[in-house]
Amino acid sequence: MSETAGDAKSEVKQASKEVKESENVAEKYSAMTVSRNSEINMGELSSVFSAVPTHKPVKKQIQFVEEKQEFSRFPTKTGRRSLSRSISQSSTDSYCSAASYTDSSDDETSPRDKTQVNSKGSSDFCVKNIKQAEFGRREIEIAEQDMSALISLRKRAQSEKPLAGAKIVGCTHITAQTAVLIETLVALGAQCRWTACNIYSTQNEVAAALAERGVAAFAWKGESEDDFWWCIDRCVNTEGWQPNMILDDGGDLTHWVYKKYPNVFKKIRGIVEESVTGVHRLYQLSKAGKLCVPAMNVNDSVTKQKFDNLYCCRESILDGLKRTTDVMFGGKQVVVCGYGEVGKGCSAALKALGAVVYVTEIDPICALQACMDGFRVVKLNEVIRLVDVIITCTGNKNVVTREQLDRMKNGCIVCNMGHSNTEIDVASLRTPELTWERVRSQVDHVIWPDGKRVILLAEGRLLNLSCSTVPTFVLSITATTQALALIELYNAPEGRYKQDVYLLPKKMDEYVASLHLATFDAHLTELTDEQAKYLGLNKNGPFKPNYYRY
Ligand code: NAD
Repeated sequence: MSETAGDAKSEVKQASKEVKESENVAEKYSAMTVSRNSEINMGELSSVFSAVPTHKPVKKQIQFVEEKQEFSRFPTKTGRRSLSRSISQSSTDSYCSAASYTDSSDDETSPRDKTQVNSKGSSDFCVKNIKQAEFGRREIEIAEQDMSALISLRKRAQSEKPLAGAKIVGCTHITAQTAVLIETLVALGAQCRWTACNIYSTQNEVAAALAERGVAAFAWKGESEDDFWWCIDRCVNTEGWQPNMILDDGGDLTHWVYKKYPNVFKKIRGIVEESVTGVHRLYQLSKAGKLCVPAMNVNDSVTKQKFDNLYCCRESILDGLKRTTDVMFGGKQVVVCGYGEVGKGCSAALKALGAVVYVTEIDPICALQACMDGFRVVKLNEVIRLVDVIITCTGNKNVVTREQLDRMKNGCIVCNMGHSNTEIDVASLRTPELTWERVRSQVDHVIWPDGKRVILLAEGRLLNLSCSTVPTFVLSITATTQALALIELYNAPEGRYKQDVYLLPKKMDEYVASLHLATFDAHLTELTDEQAKYLGLNKNGPFKPNYYRY
């Protein structure tokens, strides 16, 4: 049997296993009060989740390969800033928000060299400037207004304190929206220590506001790589406090704990991971038999993938392009590389504004979808000389090569919406014959010897999170999913979850969605008994099998 046929067979087996398990979830869930009117009893929440393992459980301890750059515990000031190699791809490649309003500070002193205390006398934090706390508080309050589902979860559950005793160490972007999540976890009883998953994305004023409220926040915008690992270390390695839960975005925190403090895992009840990269690492560990605690893959829950990736990008692609270039979209020729969730969002937004959109794809199914949606599917080389804007959204590497950059027309805008900065071969543009001119923050003109200019945005990093903000409402959906995953893993009886990676059960996705429907005053139709019987469904869901694609 060919390898491919074998893979297909095992995928089918896996799918049918997930369906059976999802039926079990439905059975368990039918006894619950969680329903279309979004009432949930936190005490019963853990029974909602069911094990949907994607690999066989394994028990061994992980051993990471030695990293080339070691964390230096007491580096010199210059040493901290001159580290040339990033050992964390996601720390620099993942989402980074341009949304800090306090960047204008000309205080060059490293936060590590400052002694700061909050109004309660605590100095267990390291932020750019604790005095910005009040400003950060306003930012958090603004975010709360568009995160009403998460706030309603907070209000419902805070008397039960389902996270009482939880000691959560978190590594995510530190933005106003994440602060709403962190403060929700605290309201539900958790103690939190938090660090940033990206060296550029921290909103300094928000980190200050968290520190002022007693969250041990270690993060500032523009950390060096050494600062990055130092902050992670300060969150994990502190006297008299040991985490029992991990919330990670990108896998760096998890990696650090495995590498430096493997004993901490004896107390850890679970890992919740948000990003594609981090989830990929967890599956690798699981496959290698090295994952030693249960983990929740939040990235692949429907409410993350179908909302964050599609709707978030549909709105923020335009924002990112406008803020950086002031481009007029009507009549422009645009090519979108990759027609997955992100590509679909970008293409739809640009088409709606009158752009002529071409799509490139490697997958015939996605290519056919693009055709049916009215886009011309082409090879990049066929349109490379014509187009005004090129957007990559593949999650792949070298999608736009130097040879193609050479052939683009004068004034072509090139940018990336995928996770990593490898989609456009930016490194190939750093050659002596080309001149780089920084014309605005995050906007470079790369100039060829004949005077041709290519406009490169965010040096090929993720455009929307580097050059604009992302819609708060979408982040509320992801944050609610993260909060529920933490509650479940923390409260699950021993044995429910093994040392494996789990997907959120469909029922929880439906619950997260139902919480957010209130914002739109949307009214769901209820199944009649007869209809439920006809479709073979429980009236309270789940309404779709796990293999349903949406
Ligand atoms: P996806 O897998 O649904 O879509 C990617 C598509 O690219 C696939 O259809 C694939 O066939 C296609 N593709 C791969 N290589 C290609 C190539 N060389 N040429 C043309 N097409 C190619 O993934 P997605 O959910 O759309 O995410 C895409 C990327 O965007 C990921 O890196 C993801 O992490 C990132 N992402 C960004 C944001 C954001 O806010 N910017 C949000 C979510 C996800």
